[in-house]
Amino acid sequence: MIEEKIQKLIKAKRAYYTDGHSEMTDQEFDALEEYVRQQNPDHPYFEIVGHDPSPYWSSAEHNIPMGSLDKVHNEDDIKKWTQKYKGSFFTLEWKLDGLSLSLDYKDSKFVRAITRGNGFKGEDISDNVVLMQNFKKMLPDFEGSLRAEIILYKEDFEKINSILSESDKYSNPRNAAAGISRRLDGKFCKYLRLIYYDITEMIDEYEKIKKLRDDFGLVTVESYTDNNFDKIISTFNTLKDLRPNLPFGIDGAVIKVSSIDIQQKEGSIKNKPKAQKAWKFDPPGAATVFLKEEWDVGRTGVVTPLAHLKPVQIEGSEIKKATLHNIAEIKRLGIGYGDTVMIEKRGDIIPKIISVVEHKNKPIKIPDSCPYCNSLLSNDGIRLFCTNHDCFRKEFYRTLYWIKTLEIDTFGKSLAHELYNEGKLTCIADIYRLKKYDISTLERWGEKSAEKIMENIEKSKNITPTKFLIALGIPGISDRTCEELLQTFGTIDELMNKNVSDIIKLKGFSDISATNIVNGLAKFSEEIKYLLKIINLKTEETEGSLSNISFCFTGAMEHPRSFYQNLVKKHGGENKSSVTKDLTYLVCNENKGSTKSKKAEKYGTKIITEKEFLSMLPSNSELPKKIRLVSYSLFEDE
Ligand SMILES: [Zn+2]
Repeated sequence: MIEEKIQKLIKAKRAYYTDGHSEMTDQEFDALEEYVRQQNPDHPYFEIVGHDPSPYWSSAEHNIPMGSLDKVHNEDDIKKWTQKYKGSFFTLEWKLDGLSLSLDYKDSKFVRAITRGNGFKGEDISDNVVLMQNFKKMLPDFEGSLRAEIILYKEDFEKINSILSESDKYSNPRNAAAGISRRLDGKFCKYLRLIYYDITEMIDEYEKIKKLRDDFGLVTVESYTDNNFDKIISTFNTLKDLRPNLPFGIDGAVIKVSSIDIQQKEGSIKNKPKAQKAWKFDPPGAATVFLKEEWDVGRTGVVTPLAHLKPVQIEGSEIKKATLHNIAEIKRLGIGYGDTVMIEKRGDIIPKIISVVEHKNKPIKIPDSCPYCNSLLSNDGIRLFCTNHDCFRKEFYRTLYWIKTLEIDTFGKSLAHELYNEGKLTCIADIYRLKKYDISTLERWGEKSAEKIMENIEKSKNITPTKFLIALGIPGISDRTCEELLQTFGTIDELMNKNVSDIIKLKGFSDISATNIVNGLAKFSEEIKYLLKIINLKTEETEGSLSNISFCFTGAMEHPRSFYQNLVKKHGGENKSSVTKDLTYLVCNENKGSTKSKKAEKYGTKIITEKEFLSMLPSNSELPKKIRLVSYSLFEDE
């Protein structure tokens, strides 16, 4: 059984390294590998590093073998490991999610670049490496090897995929970096970047990074050195928070004992250095058994399956349920009762079933009627829908949507479900009919918390017309549409009097969207009238520190463009996608040469940098966390 799975892993690995296209997704691969590891941690498979060289490139032997690292998944394991090196300095480096490479130099000149391969032998892809960003042909007074990771920025990954045909698209930036590095035509290599992390010299870890960065002027991996291990741990945790905002992927950190003497003394086991560990972010997952499914009907009528699982621990919390998304996902997984599945949990997101590793062949039965209102379900091949407009479960989720949109503090999902089960929360109006004792008499809810919730409900009555319209949760209407409608018609009452032909006249509205709006408002008209008696609508907030100011962002910036655009929106400003005569500011960091900046110069539009833009925001507003983590202060004169 295990051997079969090992063969599957080896096959996928080979496919992935030869043409960059794997049969399994990365998640499936990791999940299966983790499952095998849990079943048989000493299997010889785990001693294989990387892959055999592909036949397309000539293979070359490494001067010094490229080892791999032992993986650690939690703080306890990493702490245990440090005990042995008490008092030593440790270096934490970002673990970049790309392809490892060794670059050889002789007489200060570049000689060749070899992929990690199986650690001893890799492919000589020099022809492609010279095309990559951050490559240097000459280094001052150096003979030896550098180690770098070939990575692809997320935005470049999108760019490349957008021009590739569906079947040629890469599944993620790491896969793309591996595939592009080996393309025989060298295409797209200019998008790849080298980030250096090691040098074959007998110096301490922090000195290696310093040398690469300061003496050679290379782009290096971010690193942090300290002899207080608690600080190393907190840096690791900061890194976790930074991860989603980074322009490229990282999958953890490499922790090394800084001293080269200790590293030498410790040596390696099976080509894995003992004084280094790879601390990975999330455990790839855990294996458990699928017990049964449960179907729920959301606000818009989509019927979603939820999996009940045999309880299992992931990072200290017990997992009993996971999402199954839709019927297409059930089909893709081929999941059935009693199957062994790999699940994954990332952050606060609901756990997900990644793959089935053991089938029992008792497939899930797909329902044909709504589990709540019993009406026949429609099926588009991907999802199931309850089309009954009066389905009471949909109504409940619309109520929950109202609570969420109005951000009624402490009124959470679980309270809503409890009140629903008691028959006290079936529609939006019910929220305002609730009495304190309806809550205080529930289990786990005392007088005090009930009082607080009643206060918060009271506070939620002051909202803008736009928020009111959004919170109604009319199917087929986006938040943006709600904003536009109220900007045009001013009040809810005015909007209620409009028909399809009035709305269709507005820019960007189709027959379908106009009909959705008119029908939705008609359907909920009684409810709207009732709510308007309770709710105090206040005028729209347009006041903001950036009101009447427009911005257009262009060129490379520290964060994705949407990050800055959201800030503009939040502070009452306007975003523009192109440079027009009435644009107030063009924001870009390198202001010469681009079409946009030329146009701005022509119109006399002010050009500012990202920094200048950020300084225009009120001082107490949330600013981006600093991405750069480097700290050498312990070793340099302060
Ligand atoms: Zn229904």
